[in-house]
Amino acid sequence: MMEDASEKIKPDKDFKELGVLFENHSQKNVIQLKAKRFNWKLKIYREFVLATLSALDTERKQRLEKESSSSEFYALDAYSCTGLAAIQWKKYVQDIHVTAADHDEISLIKENAERNSLTCSTWQLDPSRVLGDPKASQAGNEIFSCRADAKSLMTMEAFNFIYLSPYKNGSSCLEPAFQSLASGGVLALVVPDLSIFSRAPHVVRREFSAQIIKTEYLKEMAARVVLAEAARSAAKYSKGISVLYVVSQEDYLLMAVRVYRGQKAVDSTLNNVCQLLHCRFCEERLFLPNQLAPYDDPYGLLTCTCKSENLGKTAVIIGPMWKGCIYKTDFLNSIVNEGNKLKLSAKFVEMASLLVIESMCLSGSEKANSGLAQEDLKSQVNSDGKTSSDSETSENKVTNVDEPTKLPKEITVPSGHPDLVPMTMKEAPRHTENQGCFTHSGKRKVDMAEEKSLSKRQKRNFVEESELQGVPFYYNVSRSKKGIPHKLNNLVKILQENGHRASRTHFDPCGIRTSASVSQFMQILE
Ligand SMILES: [Zn+2]
Repeated sequence: MMEDASEKIKPDKDFKELGVLFENHSQKNVIQLKAKRFNWKLKIYREFVLATLSALDTERKQRLEKESSSSEFYALDAYSCTGLAAIQWKKYVQDIHVTAADHDEISLIKENAERNSLTCSTWQLDPSRVLGDPKASQAGNEIFSCRADAKSLMTMEAFNFIYLSPYKNGSSCLEPAFQSLASGGVLALVVPDLSIFSRAPHVVRREFSAQIIKTEYLKEMAARVVLAEAARSAAKYSKGISVLYVVSQEDYLLMAVRVYRGQKAVDSTLNNVCQLLHCRFCEERLFLPNQLAPYDDPYGLLTCTCKSENLGKTAVIIGPMWKGCIYKTDFLNSIVNEGNKLKLSAKFVEMASLLVIESMCLSGSEKANSGLAQEDLKSQVNSDGKTSSDSETSENKVTNVDEPTKLPKEITVPSGHPDLVPMTMKEAPRHTENQGCFTHSGKRKVDMAEEKSLSKRQKRNFVEESELQGVPFYYNVSRSKKGIPHKLNNLVKILQENGHRASRTHFDPCGIRTSASVSQFMQILE
């Protein structure tokens, strides 16, 4: 297990994260904004990004092997600061072309690269180059550093992978990023300062062109608002997006989206942007269908009876938001595998594993079909748990499976958990043979296979996939006036037994993602 860098903060000494030594600006007496300093809190996101890049690299190599061709894979860390993320990529993922860019100061990137026995060549932007021109080749232990504004760099050069971790509002980076990304490329975007979504709706309106109010599913709403803005930005460059995952941690969001060029991709992406009808009394919510005509009885669309029982306007229309899937189960499975291979932290494996379960959000019968019934879980885990990279943690987790009580442990899933078996296995349940994207009716849909080049088949898959949605949003159990009557895992189980899809959600430790309506949920909660 890698050491936790944040535990080792000692002035005038190198820090270490995932085996990479580095020095921080704050140690160098560089006068700068506090917010621009290196951000420790993003360690888990750097792990996610590393695992994502590693999964993409594995996928690319398999493809190249099949086609017996070769191509460069250009990765950019656009707000590099210390260069840490870029150095981690070069160290752990072979054969990728890495560029670390920062607007102010790149000498630290060079120093940090040399600390880790990498060479760092300075790369200068050349306005005579055309977007997509091949870049100078890079040695196995070399990275490029570029002193440039992220937006200018992305406007002038094309990349296959971009990691954007801006200090503040990232919405202005979206368009340059989508201009730069090649088809099949991936954008990993960190959204800082989620608190604006709860306290400053006017700022959200300015930055993301969306109207919002405070809701109990605020974090997922924020993610969907940003994704809608991303979809619109990509559309301007004839590109559609497909969301790989969204991770929420404290005041930050990390989202990874894959980009596809083509009109069909754009149209189906834009179909996934719509408004949300939200009841202010009971927080029932639903995505409004995209239609030109106004709704005769918008309140009638909601399942709740708040309108008939209360005076005035009981519901509001908020958004626009992304209504499509926000998780790809197959991709999450592969980043869990990569995380184990790279020996990333237990926290990463725990969180990514929870995302896998959340992305599937199974109902009781599906769970039973897939052999994931709670009774079976322990025995399966006992036999599989040892295969995990960290047997000690696995054993701890096993004891938690039957007696889920405290929140952080309750969500723990051992890396040997049967849920994590790639869902391409034949014995997997029917609806998870593909990627775990469901409609509310529980119908299986064909999800997008791993993208190779943009073949016709894939474009067709893209259209099919984009018509889907997982189970959007979650309910907070603290809405019950009796406090929390059930343990959350029991509640999930009861919901599943009643035929609803349900799972815990990483967005909210007291939240339950479920396909049940608000009244059904309250009935079960009482
Ligand atoms: Zn209501």
